[in-house]
Amino acid sequence: FNNGNHLTPEELVKLDRQNVWHHLMQHKIFETQEPTIMVEGKGCLVKDIRGREYLDAVSGGVWCVNVGYGQDSIAEAVCEQLKKLPYYAMSAGNIPAILLSQKINALLPNLQRVFFSNSGSEANEKAFKMSRQYFRLKYPQKDKYKILFRQRDYHGTTVAALSATGQPERKLGYEPLVPGFIGDLPPAYCYRCSFGKTYPHCNIECARVLEDIIQSEREDTVAALILEPITAGGGVIVPADEYLSIIQEICRKYEVLLILDEVVNGFGRTGKWFGHQHWDVDPDMVTMAKGMASSYMPLSATVVKEYVFEQFLGDPSDKLGYFRDISTYGGCAAACTAGLESTRIIEEQNLCQNSAEMGKYLLDGLKELESFPVVGQVRGKGLFAGIELVEDKKTKVPVSEQFLGKVLAEAAAQGVLLGKTNRSNPGYNNVIAMAPALIVTKDEIDRIV
Ligand code: PLP
Repeated sequence: FNNGNHLTPEELVKLDRQNVWHHLMQHKIFETQEPTIMVEGKGCLVKDIRGREYLDAVSGGVWCVNVGYGQDSIAEAVCEQLKKLPYYAMSAGNIPAILLSQKINALLPNLQRVFFSNSGSEANEKAFKMSRQYFRLKYPQKDKYKILFRQRDYHGTTVAALSATGQPERKLGYEPLVPGFIGDLPPAYCYRCSFGKTYPHCNIECARVLEDIIQSEREDTVAALILEPITAGGGVIVPADEYLSIIQEICRKYEVLLILDEVVNGFGRTGKWFGHQHWDVDPDMVTMAKGMASSYMPLSATVVKEYVFEQFLGDPSDKLGYFRDISTYGGCAAACTAGLESTRIIEEQNLCQNSAEMGKYLLDGLKELESFPVVGQVRGKGLFAGIELVEDKKTKVPVSEQFLGKVLAEAAAQGVLLGKTNRSNPGYNNVIAMAPALIVTKDEIDRIV
């Protein structure tokens, strides 16, 4: 088969420039700069088309190759499954989907039903549709449909997921977005508290204000709240320990479903299977993708409590009373096989524990950088860390994007790939992000630091 091996790097770069539309890139840049084309990886290392090797501190660029590169057993398992049965629609079933749902339900014992799809955005779309239909089935006389979201959180690229995203500049140019998505909840961002307070003397105002928001929207119109347990692309923001349980309490009081987006946090990234498991919170729905199959195959899921699922059980002759949703590839046998094998690797190699231990080592190392005038704050959990860069520690004025770009370029020139979080507000693209694979070693962390 054509794997491109007969082509020279120059030919491939030329073909790329002629044919490919890269994600999230201003293509003008490729007139003067070559696209980085990766060809192979092993462990935490990736090699590009020019033979340059990098220590990948961002697990595939977007924090998703959780078990690292070169896990042959995933490739072999997927290959075997592809030969046996590549695909059949999920209105029927397949063995890997059954086994993976069982595994996920065991990892999330308070949730009971798994709905598969292909990407994080889609998993969130399903959660929104489920929330709206859940209340329409439960209270046909009410119109409980609004979805609340938090500033700086990202939930995806599709139109409703984007509508639920708290990064305004991502939305510009794509409006009008979906009505009924309300983003008044401030971030749980102690370094830049929206209330000008200081933890722990703040009464966790950023969580308590949810009650005012629900009341001002009118509780009988609000269906759900979506949050990332730890905000990822919005700046690697770890909430105060009390935060999620206060949010939970308010959601319960007003019968608002709590959806936790574990697309980045999940599958060991923060040192536990799921980010929210660090805290006392019991969500109604959890969405996941990225690390679910360590991105060896596209795979995501929306996992819900049995009472959510049961609301959709009704008379089979009712043409409207079930969840009328399908993603062609969701639950595809080969992707679920990759998910099963990746999950087995995380479990058998104790990678959540490695993430916790190596994550602490990483954070301790990075904390030492706080003595630099340009480092405002270092934060993180498990193998997920951010360094917020500022021009001045007192005023907290963020460094310019150009400055951050220079830091990342210099790191890449020294063979380490770092990430940045996306602009939440103009000028706030000032956080270096790190999320190495869960198999990362101390030596590799030393090099990153
Ligand atoms: N949710 C979070 C927290 C994410 O970071 C992302 C992607 O980065 C998504 C959802 C969307 O996932 P996908 O790009 O797979 O659609």
